[in-house]
Amino acid sequence: MKLVKLLANLGYGSRKQVALMFREGRVTDAAGEVLYADDVVGHADVRLDGEPLDPPQGMLLLLHKPVGYTCSTKDPGRVVYDLLPPRFRLRNPLLSTVGRLDRDTSGLLLMTDDGALLHRITSPKSHLPKVYEATLAQDLRGDEAGVFASGTLMLESEKTPLAPAGLDVLEPRRANVTLVEGRYHQIRRMFAAVGNHVQSLHRHRLGGLDLAGLAPGEWRLLGDAERERLF
Ligand code: URA
Repeated sequence: MKLVKLLANLGYGSRKQVALMFREGRVTDAAGEVLYADDVVGHADVRLDGEPLDPPQGMLLLLHKPVGYTCSTKDPGRVVYDLLPPRFRLRNPLLSTVGRLDRDTSGLLLMTDDGALLHRITSPKSHLPKVYEATLAQDLRGDEAGVFASGTLMLESEKTPLAPAGLDVLEPRRANVTLVEGRYHQIRRMFAAVGNHVQSLHRHRLGGLDLAGLAPGEWRLLGDAERERLF
């Protein structure tokens, strides 16, 4: 791929804007030799203003989503893309969230531009466990674990019952819930179905990944070893 296209696809600007960067001599190789728009050079050997380029297509990042951000590009309020470098929103192919967390839910969110990987993680067949900590408005009754594990719980306007889910009680009003599927507002609706109300919700684990070392709003790229830990 010609460098002008590579940089435009990475969101550094329109083709026209990127072409100007070449004319200004801002794009070089690792040794500082100026590169040209039509050159074809491996991504790792290119520098813009002396800095390595953003990751190439196929990136996977782990974000600690704070409360108050939506998993959308269009919402008029705050969106998870606001937490990343602005050009990440302009990448081609698009960087998408891997599933969604509600605006009021915090925690582990993956984002990728790798369609096959996205499908592999979100496919109903993947059965990837997702662990959420829920804080509740009322004490647990004691029968919730059985109801959630039954595989027969029907939520309003759903056509099929929920897959069995795990419940680990931490305190009378705090529990971990493990899901292997992801329906709209699922955990909030599950607790509503057993007469409770979720006050706060945080996803802290997806497959073998957790948020260790990431404060709310922080993110990092995942390498191959961590990708393997997902499944
Ligand atoms: N369940 C919910 O209710 N909300 C989420 O964001 C995720 C699971």
